Amino acid sequence: MFMRGDLQVHSTASDGKLSPWEVVKEASNRGINIIALTDHRTTNGIAEAASAGRKYGVAVIPAIEISTRYKGKSVHLLGYFTDTGFTHGTFQEILRLLRAKKVKEAKTILSNFMYVDPYKESLSVYEGINLLRLFGASVVLAHPTRIDRRFLPEVLSLPFDGIEAKYCRNSASDTSFYTQIANAHFSFYTGGSDFHRYGRGCLIGGAYLNDQEMRSFLQNSGALVFY
Ligand SMILES: [Zn+2]
Repeated sequence: MFMRGDLQVHSTASDGKLSPWEVVKEASNRGINIIALTDHRTTNGIAEAASAGRKYGVAVIPAIEISTRYKGKSVHLLGYFTDTGFTHGTFQEILRLLRAKKVKEAKTILSNFMYVDPYKESLSVYEGINLLRLFGASVVLAHPTRIDRRFLPEVLSLPFDGIEAKYCRNSASDTSFYTQIANAHFSFYTGGSDFHRYGRGCLIGGAYLNDQEMRSFLQNSGALVFY
């Protein structure tokens, strides 16, 4: 299979306007044959997307996007699951609490498995990375172009597996800047459209990884793929 992969796509499982099924159909219509469903704080759309993928010939990677904070600024993380650890009841309970904005309660559960700062009302980037990794994800810094440039070197020094070097709203120079950083410091990079809806932002496939980039991503991230 010659791959074209859009590794950041949202659906009605979070704040997108197309159902997981429709997202996969749209990917197929637009010549994308592998997607990662990266809904915010939920994996609830993945089973439906995987079923649609079998019908339309689109491979689906189970994934997620979560929001964290670095020095008061928002930093988004993408997790690409390497196994079915995301279905674990503890992880699902943590996600439910994060969706309900009960971050401290989520941290109380997490404190059984890893160090967390129990006094902060938000997840730090470091806590977010450890949370996703605990449940089997390879962890990627989402759309680094949106991060405050003053903090970028510090954020890039955190233990990410990769960065989202190709992003629909990148300039050509952004993409070459971040692909070079990724090649020098990380084991892979990702690319995605961040599609949410028609008429606003980018369409599916607005940014994607080509066949060679997808092969490198799959090999180095160990991401699970539903065919
Ligand atoms: Zn985001």
